[in-house]
Amino acid sequence: MSKIISQISRRIKRACAVWEITLKCNSKCIHCGSDAGKSRSDELSTKEALELVYDLYSCGYKGVALMGGEPLVRQDWYQIAKEIKKYKMKLSIVTNGLNIHDHIQKIKNLDVDCIALSLDGGKPKTHDYLRGIKGAFNKTLDAINLLKKENLPVSVITTVNRLNFNELNLIKKLLIDRKVAWQIQIAIPIGRFPKDLVISREQFYMLALFIAINLKNYTVKRLPLIGAHCMGYFSRFIPNLGLDPWIGCQAGYSVLGIQSNGNIKGCLTLSDEFIEGNIRSKSLYNILNSPRAFNYNRIFKKENLKEYCITCDVVKECKRGCLGTSYALDYYNEPYCLRAIEDQLFKFDQTPIRWKINSIISKYKNLYYNIFFK
Ligand code: SF4
Ligand code: SF4
Repeated sequence: MSKIISQISRRIKRACAVWEITLKCNSKCIHCGSDAGKSRSDELSTKEALELVYDLYSCGYKGVALMGGEPLVRQDWYQIAKEIKKYKMKLSIVTNGLNIHDHIQKIKNLDVDCIALSLDGGKPKTHDYLRGIKGAFNKTLDAINLLKKENLPVSVITTVNRLNFNELNLIKKLLIDRKVAWQIQIAIPIGRFPKDLVISREQFYMLALFIAINLKNYTVKRLPLIGAHCMGYFSRFIPNLGLDPWIGCQAGYSVLGIQSNGNIKGCLTLSDEFIEGNIRSKSLYNILNSPRAFNYNRIFKKENLKEYCITCDVVKECKRGCLGTSYALDYYNEPYCLRAIEDQLFKFDQTPIRWKINSIISKYKNLYYNIFFK
């Protein structure tokens, strides 16, 4: 057993633990994947949280992203953040920015590596509706301005759904030349997000084109834009939209999810069925290194796949895209996959390929300009 554990430990490079330090939130987002609002009744104490920071460090994690709920409403968030920096791990904070003025001095003291805010609409009405708070749009823009004024590394995350799909160009105008990184991801029906607001597969393809065209049109300096893990995979036409080439879902590999009561999952986008254990009853080291842990990824089985993925020619490299998305929409089959969408739209065996490629690109370019610029 110990031989297997040490083999697992050596193989895995642990990059980032995403830690919901509280489920309490001062926002009421309709697309909240965690269904946040009130704290969990059994959230980790300060002592337990500080011990967990040490455990993350000793297990080899290079960075920790604090999120919620809203992480800044937890009374001891600063103590936890300071402990992360003490061990020289990278620190990110994902916040709604509503109370940023109350915390700006502490954030400055911490030397954070990234502070990420959600911006879900290009118009105040849309953002406020999605976040469930009147005035949230202006507060988010204020928070961005304040953080920029203090020269802090700011990112914006936009979660795309049917209500904000047509406002991406407006959001882009707010962020361009501001040295604000922009991450685009799709909303999936987890937590309390209604399934009917998930974008269609056609819209998903348009969104990928939006990212690809803007990556081509703007330098990283002017618009540091990236697609999240859900924006792929292996398109025949669209270049890589993420930071790194896709090598499969990282849940339980380089990525870890921690709930505020100490439950451990491969990734927080996965449902509670994927909980591997709780740090109150088993050490983090033993959870991570159990030979059975994260087997959905660590021992990947083609037999579990369905539809597009099962017949896909690159399944060995891709391993069915984002597990969180595939699980939420269609267990072990990734419907929001650029390659699968293309293969359905263009039957490569029926028409000369060059003609197909040209006609499809011009069709989607036209659609793109109609949607985003008219
Ligand atoms: S069809 Fe499935 S395995 Fe193939 S590229 Fe898409 S997500 Fe990956
Ligand atoms: S479930 Fe999706 S978001 Fe989570 S690690 Fe896997 S690919 Fe990334």
